Amino acid sequence: MRPLEPQLTTASHAVRHPHTSLRPSSGPGRTSLLRLAVETIDSRCVYDCAYCPFARSNGHMARRALHPRRLLADARALESLGYDWMILQMGQNPRALIDVWIPWIERVHVERPSLRLMAAVGDQEEVVLRDLRHAGVSAFWLSTECSDAGSFTRLKPSGRLDGRRRAIQIIRDSGADLVTGLTVGLPGVSHDQTFETVREAISFEPSMVGVSIYVPGEGTRCSRAKPAPEVLVREVISAFRDSLPKTSIFAGCPIATQRPLDVETLVDAGADGILVNVDGLPTQVRLGRLQENSLNEAG
Ligand code: SF4
Repeated sequence: MRPLEPQLTTASHAVRHPHTSLRPSSGPGRTSLLRLAVETIDSRCVYDCAYCPFARSNGHMARRALHPRRLLADARALESLGYDWMILQMGQNPRALIDVWIPWIERVHVERPSLRLMAAVGDQEEVVLRDLRHAGVSAFWLSTECSDAGSFTRLKPSGRLDGRRRAIQIIRDSGADLVTGLTVGLPGVSHDQTFETVREAISFEPSMVGVSIYVPGEGTRCSRAKPAPEVLVREVISAFRDSLPKTSIFAGCPIATQRPLDVETLVDAGADGILVNVDGLPTQVRLGRLQENSLNEAG
C-alpha cells in the first residue's frame, strides 16, 4: 500500500510550484491542486449504517473525541502548510456538536480565517446546521451514497432520503456551499445505481464534489464485502467532470478506512482537489497527535 506522506508532499509541491507535471488536466482553470484535510473530531454516532466504521453497533471501533485544543493546533498546522480546507468529520451526534464542538469551530474560524471550514456531519436538524454556519462553517459536505431507495434503506436503516433533500435546502438558504459526497463501491450498490446516484448528485448543483472509495471496515455488517475497484473511482470522477466542468472535484482516501489512492490518476480523471486524512500529515503534526492521544488516555 502506498503511504500517504509522499502523496501529501507531492500535492504540497504542486501547490507551491505549479510548473510540476502534477496539475489538473481540467477543472476551473486551476494551475495547482486544491488541498483539503479531513479531521475526524468525534467518532461517536447514534446511527447504525451497515458499511460505516462509526456505526453504533461496531464494537471494534475505538470511540474517540479529539481534544478541542487539538483542533485549534491542527488548524494552525494546516494553515501554515498551505491547506485550503479543513473538513470537520464526525458521526451523527448533535448533542456533542452543540455542547462541545460549535464553540471550538467558531474559535478556529476567528483565529484562522484563511482556512476554510467544511462540516461533514450529515443531515442534521436545521438549528444545528444554522449554528454551524454562524460559527464560520462555509461549506457542508452531504453524502448522497445511493439514490436507490432499497439500497439506501439497507445501507442506512436509520437514514431518510427526504432528510437529505431537506438538509440541502437549509444549506442553500444559509448561503453556504453545498458539497455532495459519494463513496464509490458501497456493498450491493450496482454499477447502474452508482451512476444514477451521480446523476442525482449533479442535479443538486453542488459547489463542490467529494469522491472517496469504499473499503470494508472491521466490525461493520459489511466487513466481508469486496473492496471497491479503483477504476470505478476514476469513472465516477470523469462522469462528474463531464457534467460539471467548472466545479471543484476532490478525491482521496476515505475518512476512516485509509486506502490511499494514486493522486496522478485521480487528477487525470478530472479531480482538481486532493483529500487527505490529517493522520497523513508530516511527522511533527502526527507526533503532536500521538502525544495528545496519550494524554487523553492518561487522563
Ligand atoms: S454513515 Fe454517518 S450516520 Fe451512518 S453510522 Fe457512519 S457516521 Fe453515522
